[in-house]
Amino acid sequence: MFASNLETPLVYLKGVGPKRAELLQKELGVFTYEQLLHHYPFRYIDRTRFYKINELNPDMPLVQVIGKIMTKEMIGEKHKRRIVARFGDETGTMELVWFQSLKWVEDNIYRGNTYIAFGKPNFFNGSFSISHPDLETYPRQTSGGVTGNLTLQPIYNSTEKLKKSFLDSKGIQKLIYQILELHVNEVRETLPKYVLEKYKLIGKKEALINIHFPANTRALQQAERRLKFEELFFIQLQLLHNKHLRSLKFKGAVFSNVGERVNKFYNEIIPFDLTNAQKRVIKEIRIDTQRGAQMNRLVQGDVGSGKTVVALMSMLLANDNGCQACMMAPTEILARQHYESLVGMLKGELVNVGILTGSSTKKQRTILHQQLESGEIDILVGTHALIEDKVKFKNLGLVVIDEQHRFGVEQRAKLWRKNVVPPHILVMTATPIPRTLAMTLYGDLDVSIIDELPAGRKPIETLHFVEGRRMRMFGMMKEEIAKGRQVYIVYPLIKESEKLDLLHLEAGIEQLSYQFPRPQYQISIVHGKLSNADKAYEMQRFIDGKTQIMVATTVIEVGVNVPNASVMVIENAERFGLSQLHQLRGRVGRGAEQSFCILMSKDKLNPTSKKRLETMVRTNNGFEISEIDLELRGPGDITGTMQSGTIELKVADLAKDQVILQEARNTVIELLDKDPNVENPENSLLKSFLSKKIVGISFDKIS
Ligand code: ADP
Ligand code: MG
Repeated sequence: MFASNLETPLVYLKGVGPKRAELLQKELGVFTYEQLLHHYPFRYIDRTRFYKINELNPDMPLVQVIGKIMTKEMIGEKHKRRIVARFGDETGTMELVWFQSLKWVEDNIYRGNTYIAFGKPNFFNGSFSISHPDLETYPRQTSGGVTGNLTLQPIYNSTEKLKKSFLDSKGIQKLIYQILELHVNEVRETLPKYVLEKYKLIGKKEALINIHFPANTRALQQAERRLKFEELFFIQLQLLHNKHLRSLKFKGAVFSNVGERVNKFYNEIIPFDLTNAQKRVIKEIRIDTQRGAQMNRLVQGDVGSGKTVVALMSMLLANDNGCQACMMAPTEILARQHYESLVGMLKGELVNVGILTGSSTKKQRTILHQQLESGEIDILVGTHALIEDKVKFKNLGLVVIDEQHRFGVEQRAKLWRKNVVPPHILVMTATPIPRTLAMTLYGDLDVSIIDELPAGRKPIETLHFVEGRRMRMFGMMKEEIAKGRQVYIVYPLIKESEKLDLLHLEAGIEQLSYQFPRPQYQISIVHGKLSNADKAYEMQRFIDGKTQIMVATTVIEVGVNVPNASVMVIENAERFGLSQLHQLRGRVGRGAEQSFCILMSKDKLNPTSKKRLETMVRTNNGFEISEIDLELRGPGDITGTMQSGTIELKVADLAKDQVILQEARNTVIELLDKDPNVENPENSLLKSFLSKKIVGISFDKIS
């Protein structure tokens, strides 16, 4: 009936039935035997460790105690009826309590017998108790079967609804045990033999048995390693195989010629020397665009590392080769800033730059559309407006996307269709992400890194002040403003406590207007409750230097460039994530003068907040910060904030399994080198996986 018994729907498993099957699918997303086998425990309890009653403390999660049932009685009436047993060892006594299955307990648990009681200890009225303990007779009986003796008890994620249907961790364990008992020999290997041998990985069958019912810690480690490798291997295989297919399918314009525009810009116009990192990235782009295949490259570089000039030189290269280029920014203000900085850098020479945003007038559009189609415009800067169908290019060769994480797949796909030969794509992001995440999220893009700031930049000095030093903070603001500089003050605005935050913001503004009275000081205020037009107006006043202080909630634009701003104050800094703090700090330090970032927080901090603020004070390195952020938050959170896709890994942990990830990726690279279409007999196992969508990862990006 089913291709393999493991594909049998869970509804057919003994003890499941339609209701529970439906719950399992709804709550855990598992439908077949095989899927339930891939629902792994999230932790284990050492069943070889026994506690004495006088060792218990209420913070312990689950414990096992050997003792004798000394008394056992039914007490209470109706729904309060329960069985309470006094349970003792040589160090003391405790209670075991049952509210359900009373009849069974009456008949099967005997006073005077010795048991192993397992459960969560509670402390109440001077005594410990365990409700609904797991009881095993002591000495333990050997269970035999596929799983041997249980030494590490698996603990599974369950949900309230499942628990109500008796599918708590223990219930799930029983189902998995059943499936393994009946069908373990049908588990098929998924990795080629030579890979298993090279990395000394255990087989799939053994791994599944030991991830659920480990014989010992070592067996568990081997099972985890094997399953992590497999998980990461298949993600890499899919990513890199897609990349290969794409390179076959999509030709790219060939930019073979470094012509007049690039040369003139580089030799005569550019006002500074490029950093080595900038040169390296430009070279990588040069090589990519000569190959005849479409480029898909991600450039990561901290704020201020000089990504714009790299983009400009790439666009000039496109122009030198008879192609147009465009640059997309996520907001109107950013688009305008890019436009101005490109025009500024070009000193009005070499090429025609156009701008198109939501507020371009109908008349401006008509002219622009026509100039694009005739090829008069070489570089177009804009917002989403630029991907509307009406916008047609004569020959679009390169698209630069700034702050990539705000663009959806659909929008990018639209860009591709703008030309017969799809344009090369250069994605720029100022959010450095850890290597392991980049390899996974952007594993099918080529990644360039600008890891060097232009010479002469003074590193931003970061200070952490608690409330008691608020006056000192105001003092520093005044000193900087007296020097003609500008200041940002950022407040958190988090949904759950929006009202409270707004109160803080208002109180903060009141205190500020007292400290910084008009007309000597002018303040811009930008928060989420303002209309876009009002926001833009307030931002513009600050950009134009008409106000000295910008008070903002985190709606503050990611890439806004006000080189004159020298202080970033972050209120309630303990409530921000590390990457976010780093991003905010990047708003200052854009000029040659010393800049400051002041982190205001309450006195008492939890260890994670403390580590975040300490890290900020210690380092300005975005890559280092992203690694620590990953460690503190876990990859899910990070990808969540990046909004660029989600990775749900079952066993692997991108913060901890860097070595395995690298091994898996290397294996795939070697494999595809030798066997690009995955058709050699030694890789026959893998072919079927490529046609399936691998569980656990969904991509929201160019594909
Ligand atoms: P980001 O990477 O944040 O987009 P920008 O491209 O806006 O950075 O560059 C920040 C500032 O540094 C700009 O004013 C730019 O002109 C300047 N800049 C870029 N590269 C260099 C360089 N090699 N030497 C000196 N200044 C540079
Ligand atoms: Mg930028």
